Amino acid sequence: MGKKNVLLIHTGGTLGMVEGKPDNHLKPAQIHESVLNFVPELSELAQLESTFPCNIDSANLDIPDMNNVLSTIRENYDTFDGFVILHGTDTMPFHASALSFMVENNRKPIIFTGSQKPLRHIRTDARVNLVNSVEFATMGIPEVCICFNSILFRGNRTRKVSIGRFDAFRSPNYPILGSAGVDIQLKTKHIADFPAGKTTFVELHHHTIGVIKLFPGFDATASVAAMLQSGVQAVVVEAYAAGNIPILTHSFIPSISAMTKAGLPVFIVSQALEGSVDLDLYECGQKAKHAGAIGCKDITFEAAITKLYYLFSKFPAIEREKLGEKMVLNLSGEIS
Ligand code: ASP
Repeated sequence: MGKKNVLLIHTGGTLGMVEGKPDNHLKPAQIHESVLNFVPELSELAQLESTFPCNIDSANLDIPDMNNVLSTIRENYDTFDGFVILHGTDTMPFHASALSFMVENNRKPIIFTGSQKPLRHIRTDARVNLVNSVEFATMGIPEVCICFNSILFRGNRTRKVSIGRFDAFRSPNYPILGSAGVDIQLKTKHIADFPAGKTTFVELHHHTIGVIKLFPGFDATASVAAMLQSGVQAVVVEAYAAGNIPILTHSFIPSISAMTKAGLPVFIVSQALEGSVDLDLYECGQKAKHAGAIGCKDITFEAAITKLYYLFSKFPAIEREKLGEKMVLNLSGEIS
């Protein structure tokens, strides 16, 4: 059998920077040349082509960038067996989560990778990340993944946990999908089934989502009033552990009531990395639930935000109840 076709989609990040200097990105042609010069064995693994939808520090990632990458994938979906997206690590879990919703019934590997050190650096991690990602991209995995430090993660379960270590990512609430040691191992029982439906592509539109992170002593009144005035469409609350909120001094209950009475959906995710929101576990969660907040189980913050973008974009007139139902439903492996 011939080699698989893999499209490298370069979007920027440290991998293509000169000595990690944010304002000093290699030009697209230089990145392409560098990738092939520094990692020539990539072409033994697959038939490669490159494309450059953008060349940014991923801290600048915005909705149009995600739509550009989506268009690139849509236009090339039938031609290539897999896609490797070279991306900065800062917002990689957001973008991977977004694409897991935007490519509905995805049947091809879409693998995000990047590096902590630029490709041209002597101790770069870009080389191994590229090789592993291209190899995983030839393996028919029907998922949007992140491949980093020899581990394959489900993209919408992944969080960036380290600024300086090569093992920069974790998937605290879902097993890894594979690893690249002496052999490549796929954990097939954790990989999504091949979808039955037709693959479709959903562009994102900008929507205003409010975020409140709780901390002891926080008075939410002013933030909530500002959100109610500014046309926010939904609020994600990062609460404690199982979804608990303060109910005594600085009670957050009046804030939840004010938002839900104004028709604003309030979704609770956890500040904890591991485990699932369960609003029935403590009084501090029960009261949030009675005030109208919806606990979003074990979804990551990144997946919750991008899922809201996706749901608002796909169903512009979605009612609050329906939005709540869909937020806690597993759409793309993002929630247990
Ligand atoms: N700030 C960089 C970015 O996200 C960091 C990296 O590439 O790892 O683009």
